[in-house]
Amino acid sequence: MAEVLAGPLGNPTGGHPPAQRARRLLEDAREEVAAILGRDSGDIVFTSGGTESANLAILGTLEGAERARGDAVVLCSAVEHPAVLESCRAAALTGVEVRELPVDGAGVLERETLARALSSRVTLVAVMTANNETGVVQPVREVVDEVRRRAPQAAVFTDAVQAGAYLDLAEVTAGADLVSLSAHKVGGPAGVGVLAVSPGVALAARQHGGGQERERRSGTQDVVGAVGLATALRRAAADRDGASKRVAALRDRLADGLGAAIPDLHSTVPAGVPTLPGHLHVCISGVEREELLVALGQEGVCVSGGSSCASGALEPSHVLTAMGVSPALAAGALRFTLGYDTTGDDVDRALAVVAAAVTSLRRLV
Ligand code: PLP
Repeated sequence: MAEVLAGPLGNPTGGHPPAQRARRLLEDAREEVAAILGRDSGDIVFTSGGTESANLAILGTLEGAERARGDAVVLCSAVEHPAVLESCRAAALTGVEVRELPVDGAGVLERETLARALSSRVTLVAVMTANNETGVVQPVREVVDEVRRRAPQAAVFTDAVQAGAYLDLAEVTAGADLVSLSAHKVGGPAGVGVLAVSPGVALAARQHGGGQERERRSGTQDVVGAVGLATALRRAAADRDGASKRVAALRDRLADGLGAAIPDLHSTVPAGVPTLPGHLHVCISGVEREELLVALGQEGVCVSGGSSCASGALEPSHVLTAMGVSPALAAGALRFTLGYDTTGDDVDRALAVVAAAVTSLRRLV
């Protein structure tokens, strides 16, 4: 990104040399992202991030479909990110019927319910590739097969924002009509994303103007951001298997250590359920979660208490509720996320800090 900024950078739609340079960089980035997703470069729409991509996928597909709003049905899993759930709810306000599909106790979509819900009225099915809170990986390819069998007119959208760093995106999202990504989840800059759109989808633009991105998303493109996204994805893909193994081993060490050090620790996701390598979700009872988060943060151990709303307040997690986790357990939800550069020393230090903080806070209760 620094290299790109160091040279003259025009508007990629212009004709002079700095514009041509910008266009070349943008189109190279597009090709790189397309190759990693197993798509054609013409399928790639650059956006401002995962949220915009989800809005465009859902509302753009509904608007582009030749079906009256009152006749359209959208199915989505109950554990989708708010970017997806709220887009579906916005669609519901326009008369579209939205059905949230249940997940089992592990957070995996119940496929029999999906099969029963599919009908000739279904326009779109949204099932995320992996969950942001628990890291649980959804059976996207099976969902695609089921949709093709029972509702071939419907498009399938998968929010792959969390999966970009560790999964083979071309493989796990194969067959989906719409796939979203966000740069800052793979080590790139915040504020850039992608929506891959298969040629068969009649996507209506949500943002109108100069017709950039093949009329699907107007506005001058963020060339520097696109280069950052493509570079981050390329680097993640180059070391995917090695990083996955390394990070999963550290995550397991953290899980085992926490289990040994903290009595009554609840593992939210049962063993054997496929998850992203960097995610560890647990519920710790008998402590005030906010106090625990503050105590950990002061020691440099940065974890998440679940989903936080824009104000930063902790809200009951819709993901845990959908999984049937009791409110008492969910009140102690903690999400640890390891990165590609997390070390064994980081894990050992986190273990010591978390164990000490939980022990001392439990004494106070
Ligand atoms: N989808 C998932 C699964 C996410 O985890 C996030 C962000 O955390 C988003 C969508 C939204 O992406 P962005 O922050 O780039 O808008």
